[in-house]
Amino acid sequence: MASFPGCVRSGFWAALMVLALGAAFASDGTAAPAAQKTDTAMWDLSDLYPSPEAWAAEYDEVKNEAQRLDVYKGSLGAGAARLLQALDAVAAVNKQASRLFTYASLKADEDLSNARNQERKQSAGALNTLIGEKTAWLAPEILALGQAKVRAFEHENSGLATRHDFFLNNILRAAPHTLGLESESVLAAAGDVLQQPDSIYGQLANSDLPYPMVTLSDGTKVQLDQSAYEKYRQSPNRTDRKLVFDSFWGAWKKYESTDGAILSAQIMGNVFLAKARKYDNALSAALFPDNMPEAVYRTLVAQANAGLPTLHRYFGLRKRLLGITGELEYYDVYPTMFPSRNVPKFSLADSERLTLAAVAPYGEEYVGLLKRGFAGKWTDPLPRPHKAAGAYMNGSAYNVHPYLLLNHNEDYGGLSTFAHEWGHAVHTLLTTKHQPYEKANYSTFVAESAAIANEMLLNDYMVAQARTSEEKLYYLGEGLESIRGTFFRQVMFAEFELAIHEEIEQGRPLSGARMTEIYCGLLKKYHGDAQGVMQIDPAYCIEWAFVPHFFYNFYVYQYATSMAGAAEFTHAIEHEGRPAAERFLTMLRAGGSDYPYELYKRAGIDMASPAPYQALIARMDRIMDQIEAVKR
Ligand SMILES: [Zn+2]
Repeated sequence: MASFPGCVRSGFWAALMVLALGAAFASDGTAAPAAQKTDTAMWDLSDLYPSPEAWAAEYDEVKNEAQRLDVYKGSLGAGAARLLQALDAVAAVNKQASRLFTYASLKADEDLSNARNQERKQSAGALNTLIGEKTAWLAPEILALGQAKVRAFEHENSGLATRHDFFLNNILRAAPHTLGLESESVLAAAGDVLQQPDSIYGQLANSDLPYPMVTLSDGTKVQLDQSAYEKYRQSPNRTDRKLVFDSFWGAWKKYESTDGAILSAQIMGNVFLAKARKYDNALSAALFPDNMPEAVYRTLVAQANAGLPTLHRYFGLRKRLLGITGELEYYDVYPTMFPSRNVPKFSLADSERLTLAAVAPYGEEYVGLLKRGFAGKWTDPLPRPHKAAGAYMNGSAYNVHPYLLLNHNEDYGGLSTFAHEWGHAVHTLLTTKHQPYEKANYSTFVAESAAIANEMLLNDYMVAQARTSEEKLYYLGEGLESIRGTFFRQVMFAEFELAIHEEIEQGRPLSGARMTEIYCGLLKKYHGDAQGVMQIDPAYCIEWAFVPHFFYNFYVYQYATSMAGAAEFTHAIEHEGRPAAERFLTMLRAGGSDYPYELYKRAGIDMASPAPYQALIARMDRIMDQIEAVKR
């Protein structure tokens, strides 16, 4: 499913799916005009290693160092200096390994058909596994030292207290959920088995499920696989949309019980691990690594529910603008409300110019970092055959600079992706400028806010600069739809995820049919079935089976919280100015030096309170006010 405006699967990684087509390269060494330069500049991996040979030499060296990491095993209790020495050695190896992996992975994405490049990436992955094995003793040994001793060591040694304190605290915090040696090894051995539902699901969804053939009203024959479904559900022709929905969901419906069994197995695994590790429930286990209060999740769900009248207002507006008489249906969600013959186009040079203008409210430091990034060879910007699809920012090479892979297509989505990924890049630059390596790994929860805030500033800027009503409506429509997709839809998923976990936790059987029943209730609630806003055909309630994120263990809620946080920040920045921008930048500079909930709180936003969610819903209402003012 590619309906997220952006997604980070872990740490420094940001990924987003966009289209891939065609190619363009500059070969001329002479000075080109600015637009020419940015549209063709290619990232320069020699900032990481001058050559593949240099990479290989460094790889051997780091591998040797990694092999030696277990010399510290059993000695951490000897004193503060020894503990510092061990943690520094581990951090140094990790830092070098990240740089090696970054090069290998970027090089691999340049050309997926190049076997040598793919092998290098595998070697880099193997090095990470080796480091994992050689440091598996580290956390248990720190836990065995106990809080009092670790605190005394920190008191004695400033290196421990300033660079490694967060790491040490984070390990100590896990003591109540860490089992004895025997139990831990049993859980570790069960790891592969517990991964299987996700692989089985992938096999079914991406390969084995027979996707249906349909003939559209213009005679085109289409096999409705996932990407074709996402394309044709936007059709301006209502009969085609209904055909696409009926056929696609009809195909999934045949596998309802199989899908249900696979997803149940996944949820049972989550519940089993949470119980084994003595968490109250699967949700609190999933939120533990970020130290995220459960109240954030529950407030998010409660506030989205309280905001449903705003979502329903959007559907009412959509019905009117699409000119639908009779019932609005679930297949009417995707077509554009503002069809235009002059869809705006943006080159890379345009994207740079517009992003710079849109983020001006952050102030000089931010704009300066962005300009520095644009001037450097940090980006592989354009699609070409065999290049990796999608878009991401990789900031894992700590003391180098971020790299960005884009597949820029010249529509507004491409521009918005550009601003999003550069938001991740500037977050990385601010973090590395202000944090040591040990505290640079920021959370997804904060990272996505940094990126989505840029999308919002950009959208507001484009609306303000629009020269015609048609243009203005186009940008307003994009802004409105992104709130539906990234906030309400993701909260609906989050609510479903919580409900199916609770079914298992409360000892109730969970079949595919039961999941469909739960999902149907949510679809109807979110889309206002009882209020006559939209009619939900039960045939579409199998949609849950299509969402791979339900295998990611309470992951999707972060898209919604990040967007809400970004909405409160951008509103404050646009109205309050510099002090609000400064609070936002302080949060980005803090990198991974504290837990995301605490970082937000210090920036003046309590993510467990209704305020950020209300700010986002107010933004949605303002967008609709503007649309209605034009369309009156
Ligand atoms: Zn992102």
